[in-house]
Amino acid sequence: MTGIASDVDGLSTRAEQSALSLFTHGGGDRPEAGAPKAVARIREFLRDNPTPSPCVVIDLATVRERYWQLTAALPSARMYYAVKANPAPEVVRELATIGSSFDVASVPEIELCLAEGASAQNLCYGNTIKKRADIARAYELGVRLYTTDSEADLEALAEHAPGSSVFCRVQAAGHGAVYSFGSKFGCSPELAESLLLRAGKLGLVAGGVSFHAGSQQLDPSAWSAGIEQAASIASRLAAQGVRLPLLNIGGGLPGSYTQSAPPLGDYADAISAAAREHFAAVGLEAPQLVLEPGRFLVADAGLLRSEVVLISRKSPEDEHRWVYVDAGRYNGLTETEGECVAYLISSPEHTGEEAESESGPVYLAGPTCDGDDVLYQRTVYRLPSALRVGDHLDFLSTGAYTASYASIAFNGFSPLKTLCI
Ligand SMILES: *Cc1c(COP(=O)(O)O)cnc(C)c1O
Repeated sequence: MTGIASDVDGLSTRAEQSALSLFTHGGGDRPEAGAPKAVARIREFLRDNPTPSPCVVIDLATVRERYWQLTAALPSARMYYAVKANPAPEVVRELATIGSSFDVASVPEIELCLAEGASAQNLCYGNTIKKRADIARAYELGVRLYTTDSEADLEALAEHAPGSSVFCRVQAAGHGAVYSFGSKFGCSPELAESLLLRAGKLGLVAGGVSFHAGSQQLDPSAWSAGIEQAASIASRLAAQGVRLPLLNIGGGLPGSYTQSAPPLGDYADAISAAAREHFAAVGLEAPQLVLEPGRFLVADAGLLRSEVVLISRKSPEDEHRWVYVDAGRYNGLTETEGECVAYLISSPEHTGEEAESESGPVYLAGPTCDGDDVLYQRTVYRLPSALRVGDHLDFLSTGAYTASYASIAFNGFSPLKTLCI
């Protein structure tokens, strides 16, 4: 395990980092790639296997590495990979092979996991919004662990998935996250308590509380409130004779974008301490932790290659160039909406110090005839003055929520292709 670890990243040299030439605001802190060895391997692959752009390439060794890092940081937790982050069959197969379980949200995701070697007993149907027919199909396929947050869904589970275990999701605040889940999911702690109590009476098994602290969560202490709430629900249920064996703390661990995130160890320490302390405070043993990592396992493993289609200025005296690339909001770069995620960008044709010093400010946009298909207009990127039409821009850490969000063919542009190496 450690052999793989040192090969993949974390031990990148300064030279490897600077050979990349990452373009952002061009001054102050030097940004760092999350997995420079993955970038190097993917670029070598694209050099040897010319592939029409845009495409996203996933370095499976980095997915493996992230999985080992996470299991090493939280050794007693069980990992359920959130398939929606990147449902490429090769990614699912890789994770199934090394022992991951899976958080799925639909029947096709269940079928995908089963086809790629996962066993039904390692799947959790984590979507709280389900058709009755889909519950019945999931049960038929062998799924015995579900997440709920309502009376109606609990009753549907009792009818169509008898004897299964259920998590009850409570609403979490999501402060500190780039994406908060708002109030769509989860219920109040009082309702969670009564649903978990009722589960047993309906012939289901009360598994535990679940919550999601928001995606791309940059504050390691953000899980503490949800864990405290879970401990208080567990203690009230214990008083009524119901023991909750599990605690599902969702996903939220970050990928590497221009806004840097704390190291994994900080998250693991904060989560372990919160679980220990909040359960000890109510006189209970900490339950088995369940994690549903999505972004953390796949983001840094991916590189999205785009091609420059057009470079223009809106007037002769305009300082900014508009740089249009063949990847945009609708074919992979969905998370640039609201400029929420500012990806690290690098060009394979422009590396070294000159590329960084001889540069100017740009606005970046996608290829479609949609005014919203602009990637960055507020976030300042500086790109080399020598950048030409036909050159490539690589968006780093694009293994999560890119291909899986791409439209089928908006404006006739193909959905984003995924290749795995
Ligand atoms: C999307 C999702 C995840 C994964 O979230 P990340 O922020 O990508 O880690 C985990 N659990 C549930 C229920 C989700 O909906």
